[in-house]
Amino acid sequence: MDPVAPIIPDMLTVPRKAVDGLPNLVGMSREAMRDALIGVGTAEKQAKMRVGQIWQWIYHWGVRDFDQMTNLSKDYRAMLKEQFVVAVPEVVTRQVSDDGTRKYLVRIAGGHEVEVVYIPETDRGTLCISSQVGCTLTCSFCHTGTQKLVRNLTSAEIIGQVLVARDDLGEWPEHGTRTDGPRLLSNIVLMGMGEPLYNFENVRDAMKIAMDPDGIQLSRRRITLSTSGVVPEIARTAQEIGCQLAISFHATTDEVRDKLVPINKRWPIADLLDALRAYPKVSNSERITFEYVMLDGVNDSDADAHRLMKLIDGIPAKINLIPFNEWPGAPYKRSSNNRIRAFADIVHKAGYSSPVRKPRGEDIMAACGQLKSETERGRKSRAQIKAETGT
Ligand code: SAH
Ligand code: SF4
Repeated sequence: MDPVAPIIPDMLTVPRKAVDGLPNLVGMSREAMRDALIGVGTAEKQAKMRVGQIWQWIYHWGVRDFDQMTNLSKDYRAMLKEQFVVAVPEVVTRQVSDDGTRKYLVRIAGGHEVEVVYIPETDRGTLCISSQVGCTLTCSFCHTGTQKLVRNLTSAEIIGQVLVARDDLGEWPEHGTRTDGPRLLSNIVLMGMGEPLYNFENVRDAMKIAMDPDGIQLSRRRITLSTSGVVPEIARTAQEIGCQLAISFHATTDEVRDKLVPINKRWPIADLLDALRAYPKVSNSERITFEYVMLDGVNDSDADAHRLMKLIDGIPAKINLIPFNEWPGAPYKRSSNNRIRAFADIVHKAGYSSPVRKPRGEDIMAACGQLKSETERGRKSRAQIKAETGT
């Protein structure tokens, strides 16, 4: 298949019906849940209130069992139990790194597995979630890119990653109390496996649930969607999700970017920058993050740094330098610390914030771009990777 061919989300997404045949209330938008409740006989004038009640049980209290939804009548609960499930992905393994990073392997319908990573920091905690099993794109430095796309995740599977992480962190308010302390899971980044903008609707629905003020309640400023540059979907992201945007930029010429991020052949740097300039939410307080993976001798020269500054001129931006995380068979090496520092210096002197992303959870292969589920491993050979990257 053409590596940058768009995929048709609906063909790849399993229907909302869960494995056991009953529809899953998790992942439904409020409107969809309302329709579903009316569909099983809830009176239209009561439906909105019922959605509000069920929503709070699932997303505020973390309840999965209809029997615990005590403000609903026994009969109504019995009916819900017959018609629906409240299902989240199954956690298969949980690893904790020396630095506190947690990596979960979760199993979804069809037996596929995806990885979810929780990164604690002093004043916050970030959950890195996946949007697809594998990826259709073939970025040559990315471990996920060596794995073929298996399918898009449903909105239930996307928000379900947040729910299971909160389970593990014990971060549900106890029934009857409201907690106002700092959140353990305070931020979400769509930087796990997959290209979120090739699964737009499901990512949007799941993030709307995460932002809903009656449930998980994360501000749109605490959600960052990272894309390799699916230009036509960028404006839609601003309009329909309104979250922070990160771009996997990684190169300063089309020639190099074509190799590193092959989607560049379809939407080259100039088109991408046009889309970013137009990103309507952009303001000084809402800078676009430019992710830039530091690859030894490939994209890390002083000339690259200067070119990068010229390219992004006028865009409120933050540059996130990511030391390359190696994986078995990877065709690149991480730039030296000195090189990364010199590059960061140029960026900094040009007036941009340029944090170097500290690799977290490396000992459990949880760092950026290292994710790849065991079940899907080994689809492409080293020779194939070599042939594709021309290295
Ligand atoms: N598909 C999306 C989001 C997932 S990747 C995207 O490409 O943006 C999240 C980030 O990790 C991207 O910036 C990606 O380029 C980067 N990344 C991938 N592999 C990496 C590796 N081996 N080392 C460091 N960063 C990597
Ligand atoms: Fe897919 Fe992102 Fe990896 Fe590229 S970097 S292969 S878009 S997950």
